Amino acid sequence: MAKQEDIFKNVVSHAKEYGFIFPSSEVYDGLSAVYDYAQNGVELKKNIREYWWKSMVQMNENIVGLDAAILMHPTTWKASGHVDAFNDPLIDNKDSKKRYRADVLVEEFAEKINQKAQKEIEKARARFGDAFNEEEFVTTNARVVEYLSKYKEILSRLAKGMTDDLQDVKALIEELEIADPETGSRNWTDVKQFNLMFGTKLGASADSAMDLYLRPETAQGIFVNFLNVQKSGRMKVPFGIAQTGKAFRNEIVARQFIFRMREFEQMEMQFFVRPGEEMKWYHHWKETRLKWHLSLGLGKENYRFHDHEKLAHYANAAADIEFNFPFGFKELEGIHSRTDFDLKAHEQFSGKKLQYFDPELNENYVPYVVETSVGLDRMFLAVFATSLKEETLEDGSTRTVLKLPSVLAPTKAAILPLVKKDGLPDIARTIIEDLKWDFTVAYDEKDAVGRRYRRQDALGTPFCITVDHQTIEDQTVTIRHRDTMKQDRVKISELKDIIENEVSTKNWLMKM
Ligand code: ATP
Repeated sequence: MAKQEDIFKNVVSHAKEYGFIFPSSEVYDGLSAVYDYAQNGVELKKNIREYWWKSMVQMNENIVGLDAAILMHPTTWKASGHVDAFNDPLIDNKDSKKRYRADVLVEEFAEKINQKAQKEIEKARARFGDAFNEEEFVTTNARVVEYLSKYKEILSRLAKGMTDDLQDVKALIEELEIADPETGSRNWTDVKQFNLMFGTKLGASADSAMDLYLRPETAQGIFVNFLNVQKSGRMKVPFGIAQTGKAFRNEIVARQFIFRMREFEQMEMQFFVRPGEEMKWYHHWKETRLKWHLSLGLGKENYRFHDHEKLAHYANAAADIEFNFPFGFKELEGIHSRTDFDLKAHEQFSGKKLQYFDPELNENYVPYVVETSVGLDRMFLAVFATSLKEETLEDGSTRTVLKLPSVLAPTKAAILPLVKKDGLPDIARTIIEDLKWDFTVAYDEKDAVGRRYRRQDALGTPFCITVDHQTIEDQTVTIRHRDTMKQDRVKISELKDIIENEVSTKNWLMKM
């Protein structure tokens, strides 16, 4: 556990030290759960967004993009259910004045009991080896049976309390004697619903001002534009609308760096299908999205599906793609079969028809929707944390290397004159002039070349190109590969093809 925490701390400090992510308004001690992307972070984030956009929009004839405004007519959020149902149950500790999500307190308590059971199971597995029968063990070992039944009972009482009566959730917290994790106090207030939307005002004068919300998801901008896009683009069902953009949630428990932020970015696609065909498309998108993640090569073992048993009010099937973050498996992307809930709700609240005339069936209907929704910042964290490695080299020294998928790397190549004289910087500059039209490249002449290699390793730059005295003679340079540290002598004229072959989106997406 301590090791996991160390790894995570390392990720956060590397992100800051190497210009990827800073706390927002740091000169004023920051703003909780809000972050800024710095010079390298903004490139990595942009590359992730583009990798998504190309695979969703550019590669699919029947998916088009959209960039809707963050501010929307307030009735949108009545219709979508966010005004009435986008709540988290919160509880305050009267002594510490700290605020918690009541359901998270109970879940964390239950998880500790589950962990005790898992520990027993692992001990038994080690003891019995190949002969170990887990199924039999968890139903016969008295201690494990007790832990697991307690665990399940707590979770089912929590689920019931969450839907029926929040006072039961408070009673559960008291009965389990759950204490404030920071202070140990058990002096709790009642559990209250807390809406996660940020409110704001439109208009100058106090009287005429209109209450608005900052959008808590990008999806609704797609739904209200469904007919505009379908008609102007002459789209035929099935078709999709994709969008990336900021969303805002007043999260109560905002921890874990950029995993849960109050201002974040989503990459969403709503796919409109014939009623009755939604399950086929739901499975299609589940598989397709997983393949997209796997194409980045971060390791198959780091992903898993979590199929939802308890569904949101708008869904008839839902699954998360979970990723093995430095703090365990957590949701990275959601794939939801949203039925015709949203379009129907907008029809009802707007009084306008949001229907499609299907020329093949010769009938009008409200399409069903399958949604794919991935957090851009969570993608960033997944990619960044998994790529950060400490390696011990053959000579016993260590190096920190950010083994980013090269297609996403902020800088594709660094051009380094071996020394700052003899015309070598000039040659390096001409190489940059040639390459910068196609790739983001950097120039670095400070310090010994070994130090410069290390600096580029820590930034995730896939190639270092060194100009030396031989370059003057025969127009060749050395090209060093980040992951293998192997160096090849190549012609300057070959550089573009070598880099292109390694970083091209096509070559990466073809792995899907
Ligand atoms: P969680 O259960 O973690 O709160 P969610 O189920 O509420 O997430 P969705 O509403 O399905 O999330 O949003 C889709 C995606 O948006 C999530 O899979 C996640 O990647 C991202 N996301 C949601 N909330 C946040 C947040 N506060 N900070 C960063 N990313 C977020």
